[in-house]
Amino acid sequence: MENHSILTVVVPCYNEQESVPLFYRELVKLNTFFEDNSLELELLFIDDGSKDGTVSAIRELKNIDSRVHLVSFSRNFGKEAAMYAGLQNAHGDYVVFMDADLQDPPSLLPEMYQGILEGYDSVATRRVSRKGEPPIRSFFARMFYRLMRKISKTEMMDGARDYRLMTRQMVDAILEMGEYNRFTKGIFGWVGFNTKWLEYENIERVAGETKWSFWKLFVYSIEGIVAFSTAPLTFISVLGVVFCFLAFFMIIFTIVRKLIFGDPVSGWPSLVCIILFLSGVQFFCTGILGQYIAKTYMEVKKRPIYIKNEKNCF
Ligand code: UDP
Ligand code: MG
Repeated sequence: MENHSILTVVVPCYNEQESVPLFYRELVKLNTFFEDNSLELELLFIDDGSKDGTVSAIRELKNIDSRVHLVSFSRNFGKEAAMYAGLQNAHGDYVVFMDADLQDPPSLLPEMYQGILEGYDSVATRRVSRKGEPPIRSFFARMFYRLMRKISKTEMMDGARDYRLMTRQMVDAILEMGEYNRFTKGIFGWVGFNTKWLEYENIERVAGETKWSFWKLFVYSIEGIVAFSTAPLTFISVLGVVFCFLAFFMIIFTIVRKLIFGDPVSGWPSLVCIILFLSGVQFFCTGILGQYIAKTYMEVKKRPIYIKNEKNCF
């Protein structure tokens, strides 16, 4: 093992002016751990276009600690973009993602690093409880993971957080996935490598408030499905075949009934029901198709994942 390694802590921040100093105070408690393991800390904040005093809060830290660095975005690009920027700008032999709100407890880091020493390429965390979260949100989150396990080959853990320590080779593998529609929970699983899982109880954020509304989470989950599974496309193809068979039998049935009983005109209500139902099914299927086309459209544009505001970077 090298006797002097760099550990980059990547912290995506969006309007976290209250959390940033609290986070820093918590993280420096690990200074002795870093020294004991000859780890050089690189504390890399990513400001995801915050509109509050996040940037100046980080600048204040820089004044007292030269290990602090900042990459600032020109606007809000989302946490996924922030994490990608973190990996791109990290110099570490090891890189760990941590939320600014202390929901990813820094005190777990020594145990995570132990996993790396044991030979794992990544040590990930999952929360085993969702206390403090609206029950309906927990319910849908569980449903999402259950569905994903069925329709995607990529391994995704229920309750997995983005709090994860990785070796350089895993970081480089993730960086090679330069897709625009990023769903990191899937990307982690997709790149493979040996992963050790640590579990902990959910912790509520120290300050500020969550940036995730129920609707945002819903849209995000669809993104995850589209990014890591084509099962919905298979599903609508099968649906099409099933309806063709159904139609075939209905035609036979109608002809036979006409030949035996006459009067092909009656049955207007059932006809309306069938038309309404089938157009619903068609819209649904077109919608699914549309989701994939939309993602493809965004992908072929090859827009940058984020844009730096150089003035605020150091
Ligand atoms: N975050 C970000 N960009 C965003 C939204 C969130 O960088 O557009 C950061 C946020 O500052 C925090 C982390 O991502 O450090 C997790 O966000 P949050 O706590 O709102 O999510 P939750 O923990 O509720 O899932
Ligand atoms: Mg949080």
